[in-house]
Amino acid sequence: MAEKTVLVAGGAGFVGSHLCEKLLDENCRVICFDSLITGKKENLPSMSQRKNFKFIKGDISKKVPSLRIDGIFNLASPASPVDYQKRPIETLFSGSLGVKNLLDLARKNDAVFLQASTSEIYGDPLEHPQKESYYGNVNPVGPRSCYDESKRFAEALTTNYCSHYSVETRIARIFNTYGPRMRKDDGRVIPNFVMQALKNGPLTVYGDGSQTRSFCFVDDLVCGLLSLMKSGYTLPVNLGNPDERTIFDTAKKIISLTGSSSKISFAPLPKDDPLRRRPDISLASEKLGWKPVTGFDKGLKSTVEWFRTNPGR
Ligand code: UDP
Repeated sequence: MAEKTVLVAGGAGFVGSHLCEKLLDENCRVICFDSLITGKKENLPSMSQRKNFKFIKGDISKKVPSLRIDGIFNLASPASPVDYQKRPIETLFSGSLGVKNLLDLARKNDAVFLQASTSEIYGDPLEHPQKESYYGNVNPVGPRSCYDESKRFAEALTTNYCSHYSVETRIARIFNTYGPRMRKDDGRVIPNFVMQALKNGPLTVYGDGSQTRSFCFVDDLVCGLLSLMKSGYTLPVNLGNPDERTIFDTAKKIISLTGSSSKISFAPLPKDDPLRRRPDISLASEKLGWKPVTGFDKGLKSTVEWFRTNPGR
């Protein structure tokens, strides 16, 4: 991808900013487009000095600038349950109008378009682990539907731009990801638990903590996104780490890693909170030759270190 001009929508967010950095390292010209609603300009300082980097503020669901580009990564959407439930209409518009605007730009430029989708499209899955062939179990009018359904629509729109207009497209179904630059107040489980542990306060486990998630370190995910972009594979691909654990064990692990004196407290499980989630990544392994390489302890240590040294973020 060297020398290519790549637009990263949502490039000031947690995953987007790591992706911008990696693309610059690969000698791409990077245009970061972000509304800064959930993304932060502080995520970009080391990049803003680099000559191949440009930042444009804007909202994909309103208007995207008419740019000359070779590729688009679309990561523009609120992604944490707290963020998207606070902004349900913006979330629905970014997954529909926003994706349409970017697909039109890709079509005009003959550019490759990668849509960030999510494990949330499987809803509260009845099949475990989740393969790409599973259609999901989504409540279309539940509290998570603004995110789940907008991403399902985004997948449908992307697929049809590919088949109907011959736009070259990719779809990444991203499972739970963690790492430096998550917002401490984004409400997701890893920042919540790490911040609570660093303050020696109680870790708030929702439900009895027996629900599971599988956490992927952000650097691994970014490598997966790049491999997918380069692959030529147009159907959806799961990207995540199959290392599944309960939320209760995750809380205990974070207490022990931080050396915290925190205890665990329990709060009600939010409605429609998926009970189990683990990606089947055999397709990514077969088509992209990709698998995550960062163990949970190693990834968590660097995440904790980041929260320790950036308490204001
Ligand atoms: N969770 C929790 N305590 C928190 C935040 C989240 O027990 O302070 C649980 C949440 O109910 C869910 C899991 O952790 O079962 C992962 O939540 P998160 O918001 O990180 O992402 P999700 O996978 O639900 O989108």
